[in-house]
Amino acid sequence: MPILTRAQLKLALDALPRVELAHLPTPLEACPRFSAKLGGPQIWIKRDDCTGLAFGGNKARQHEYILGDAISRGVNVVIQGAASQSNQSRQLAAAAARLGIRCILMPRKDARFEEVQGNQLIARRFGAEIVPIDPADSAKVAKEAMAERLRAQGLMPAILGMGSERALNLAAVAYIDAYCELVDQFDAMGALPPTHIYVTSQGSTQAGLQAAVMLLGHETLVRGINPMDARNEAYEPPGVIADRCVSAARMLGFDLDVTEEDIENSVDYVGADYGQPSDAAQEAADLIASSEGILADPVYSAKGLSGLVGDIRSGKLTKSDRVVFLHTGGLPAIFSYAGSYSG
Ligand SMILES: *Cc1c(COP(=O)(O)O)cnc(C)c1O
Repeated sequence: MPILTRAQLKLALDALPRVELAHLPTPLEACPRFSAKLGGPQIWIKRDDCTGLAFGGNKARQHEYILGDAISRGVNVVIQGAASQSNQSRQLAAAAARLGIRCILMPRKDARFEEVQGNQLIARRFGAEIVPIDPADSAKVAKEAMAERLRAQGLMPAILGMGSERALNLAAVAYIDAYCELVDQFDAMGALPPTHIYVTSQGSTQAGLQAAVMLLGHETLVRGINPMDARNEAYEPPGVIADRCVSAARMLGFDLDVTEEDIENSVDYVGADYGQPSDAAQEAADLIASSEGILADPVYSAKGLSGLVGDIRSGKLTKSDRVVFLHTGGLPAIFSYAGSYSG
């Protein structure tokens, strides 16, 4: 695979169907006080928590491609099912309202379901139909059964998120685009691309960044910090993330050779489990809040940030590195976790 220019990559991205949802480009901000507190490398934060659309996050970018594709195929109802505090459900419900598409959300009746707070509070504002599922049931199976019922009624449903390879691959495509945006911002500052990108990722976001790095022949190391591990239905091991890089590149017409050795995705910062705050994540969140005025949520962004803090303290990152932390959002969850903050 010959190395592409950014212009070639952007041309391929422009050829895909897309809707406008996110406030782009998102800011790229230097974090000198956060870095100084850690005695660490130069750190920038890419503010994908600021994508607009119902409190922002990485799904706004992803839904531009996913829903653009769905609409171009005649889809008239979208189905998403996940944890009751799902960021994706919140952002999808808002996107569907904005685009005039019917939306069915299938939240798990998990420990956070009863209290209508955070993401769930917001997700319910956009007129989506809410069909809760049992925590013991597979969300994949429940979504597929719902799609089957809708098809029998003559509708054109699309399952999004977990259970839809097409949607997960398009979510990665959105982060190929985001990587181009990031490099444009470094160019505009007259700086070299970052040596490392840290991101909280279950697969798609990391796959997009990794695919872009490889397509452009850059040296940037993409390190994903996974908020979950193999105990969770939505967990994707490095081999699956590698396949997602290949699939995302192929959607743009490029052949890319990616194996699991190319993927650095860590489950070391999950803590007790997905959705459970960890001390390391809370400390990292407090550190960036008090030094930079930036919030991180306990389920996703703070866990990713704890991976960055951990790698600085262990000496894996040095002062000469130039590191971007990609903030994927998730902030409404803070309100649902109010009880886990000490004061
Ligand atoms: C969904 C989500 C992620 C993971 O995104 P992937 O594309 O699945 O890697 C990370 N952070 C937040 C806040 C999210 O909502």
